[in-house]
Amino acid sequence: TTTVYRDEDADSTYIEDKTVAVLGYGSQGHAHALNLNDSGVDVIVGLREDSSSWPEAESEGLRVETPDVAAAEADIVQMLVPDTIQPAVYEAIADGLEAGDTLQFAHGFNIHYGQIRPPEDVDVTMVAPKSPGHLVRRTYQRGEGVPGLIAVYQDATGDAKEQSLAYAEAIGCTRAGVIETTFQEEVETDLFGEQAVLCGGVTELMKMGYETLVDAGYSPEMAYFECMNEMKLIVDLIYEDGLMGMWNSVSDTAEYGGITRGEYVVDDEYAREGMEQVLEEVQNGEFAREWITENQTNRPSYKQLRAAEEGHEIEDVGGRLRELFAWEEQREEVPADD
Ligand code: NDP
Ligand code: MG
Ligand code: MG
Repeated sequence: TTTVYRDEDADSTYIEDKTVAVLGYGSQGHAHALNLNDSGVDVIVGLREDSSSWPEAESEGLRVETPDVAAAEADIVQMLVPDTIQPAVYEAIADGLEAGDTLQFAHGFNIHYGQIRPPEDVDVTMVAPKSPGHLVRRTYQRGEGVPGLIAVYQDATGDAKEQSLAYAEAIGCTRAGVIETTFQEEVETDLFGEQAVLCGGVTELMKMGYETLVDAGYSPEMAYFECMNEMKLIVDLIYEDGLMGMWNSVSDTAEYGGITRGEYVVDDEYAREGMEQVLEEVQNGEFAREWITENQTNRPSYKQLRAAEEGHEIEDVGGRLRELFAWEEQREEVPADD
């Protein structure tokens, strides 16, 4: 079984005398920088000169420099700018990586697909909270944490894993639990999951369900509620208590219908083949090549597909209904604490 690392497995001496450059102050960046700082680690935030986040980070008491200056001074450089920007930022900071320094990531894409090639005498590691940045920060402030991953791609010093665990502790992840993976596994499972199931699979399923009802003459409002809005309620049940928790909460009719009819849609031939193809294109690098080329050519397909998604009728109908029913307000009544 997988080892889950907790606070007692992390040795903070591996990070306490180090200086960490956190490059970027977005979702992950602000959370890492503030948590490290609160944990007593020396932090420099790396931002471009015209960054709107610069004054914000300074107002939180953090020191801010341009990425090259921050990285040159630091022992650990944590790359928290968008993945598509990282290769360019790496070019700007590469000279500041000395033997024994650490180049660290929260996602392995650029290392795994060869877009960043660090020198052999630096450690290359990953510390990746499995959560959006605002929760990384908010849970830390409550004395809790979010689960995280660590991985070692290159261990020049012999301390790469210990130091990753110490970093994970300093941002709060070992309070919740940390597991070790590899860059390859993190990247391939992450891309597969978001493409086949989480982002791609779920949105196609909802749109197709909606279209099937509306094409058959049912009202768009009913179709939106049944095929999109209620998704959250079902997923919340699964998140809390697994598949059986969900099946136990819905009616027996829903359970029997779901168990017998779900496979009509996500069938064992076509849908499974589709998933296997998604995985293959992740594994053989075809997806990565396509996405890198998109980014090098100003994203022509991405822009076009995004416009089509924005124009889908379910977005109009959903937008109107979400305004009418004011879910936002209901959500805010739930105490932010749990
Ligand atoms: P964001 O998009 O939130 O990061 C934006 C930050 O990057 C801003 O501070 C921005 O500053 C800075 N930035 C953008 N372009 C440049 C540039 N050219 N030079 C310097 N700084 C720049 O990123 P995320 O936090 O979402 O992602 C960071 C990493 O974390 C990624 O590898 C991602 O895969 C990973 N990750 C993200 C998770 C998430 O929930 N978001 C979860 C787990 C991992 P400016 O003000 O200058 O624009
Ligand atoms: Mg350095
Ligand atoms: Mg992802």
